[in-house]
Amino acid sequence: MRGSQREAQNWRIHVQGHMLCPQCRSPKLPHFACPNCGFYKESKVYRTRAEIRSAKKETQQEQK
Ligand SMILES: [Zn+2]
Repeated sequence: MRGSQREAQNWRIHVQGHMLCPQCRSPKLPHFACPNCGFYKESKVYRTRAEIRSAKKETQQEQK
């Protein structure tokens, strides 16, 4: 537990404010994928919740 607490403190120091997402221009944490559009360094690294929903809808429609 002590080790993880120390890491948490370093983490707070490491995070320096926000930067703007180059994709959607919304504020995001540096070195992290944008929570709004899922882009990181001009490439998509994960799906946003909205996209997962739409993907599920598409697959459901295909099955019908
Ligand atoms: Zn974005």
